[in-house]
Amino acid sequence: MIELDLTQFFVMILSVVVGGAGLGVLVDELRERRMFREVRRNIMRCRICGTAYRKEGQDAVQSCPECASPNPCSRDRRLG
Ligand SMILES: [Zn+2]
Repeated sequence: MIELDLTQFFVMILSVVVGGAGLGVLVDELRERRMFREVRRNIMRCRICGTAYRKEGQDAVQSCPECASPNPCSRDRRLG
């Protein structure tokens, strides 16, 4: 049996609690970041009227629900 005095016992409990909380915060942060990225990937902005809307389906071109103009899903690489 390992001998612990009261101080060591409390330090042990404290370190377990702090470690657990830190791990929880880390997991939460990672989950939030992933969710944010997922949301950003599915949000589209109309290049004509500027309305933000959710991407639906896997079509390469989505039409805007406001003005019905077609918007390409991939990043626009045109210059000017
Ligand atoms: Zn539009």
